[in-house]
Amino acid sequence: MRVLPVKTFGDNYAYLLVDESRHTAAVVDPGQAGPVREWLARGGLKLAAILATHHHDDHVGGIGELVTLAPGIPVLGAAADKGRIPHQTDFLEDGDPVEAGGMRGTAIATPGHTRGGVAYFFPAPLGGDLFAGDTLFGGTMGNLFEGTPDRMRATLKRLRDLPERTRLWPGHEYTESGVRDALRLQPDDPVIVARMAAVEAALARSGRTIPLSLDEERRTNPFLRWDDPDLRALLGTTGDKDTFRKLCEVL
Ligand SMILES: [Zn+2]
Repeated sequence: MRVLPVKTFGDNYAYLLVDESRHTAAVVDPGQAGPVREWLARGGLKLAAILATHHHDDHVGGIGELVTLAPGIPVLGAAADKGRIPHQTDFLEDGDPVEAGGMRGTAIATPGHTRGGVAYFFPAPLGGDLFAGDTLFGGTMGNLFEGTPDRMRATLKRLRDLPERTRLWPGHEYTESGVRDALRLQPDDPVIVARMAAVEAALARSGRTIPLSLDEERRTNPFLRWDDPDLRALLGTTGDKDTFRKLCEVL
């Protein structure tokens, strides 16, 4: 799948999923229409669908303008977000099939950051592409605006269980602060120390750290490591829920 990241509002990411053979693209989380229109025009691409991960304005604010450019295109979002995503036409339940950018994927319900929400996963032979909105970021996770720690952990467990070579496309460029917080928690962990250096190098080079690697998140993101013995020893916790709740308190 060809993924074209589009920065909006400075640190938000929208993504164009390009279908090369049809010269069309679906867009994930168009918080703003302008930058999306610019990249569509630059690539000679026609907008074919809009995929929203959740209802927050910095992810859906551009939908109104984009549907006027391409009337009748599908606007996908969670069934649980009905009434909160402008111009929504498709109301997805967990596991529903999704087609975008010439690829077939699946909606994964992601309650936690909000009470509704979906991630979009497009499998590939050796991994896949995951558009996780504000659920999972580099080194950290989204705020629990409408969910509980238990709910979020259940969601993150499902994302963690996806194939190891999955590319993760998050809703924001938060990797530097996320990994810095992980390093503050475990300053002597050599894997996190090395990651911090790699993140700084990537930002200096291109201003971005995407795509993230789901496998690297599993090894370095504290919010995917509730069952890691070292982290449990550090936090003085024993069970999965207990450890995750403690992480929510200290980070
Ligand atoms: Zn959000």
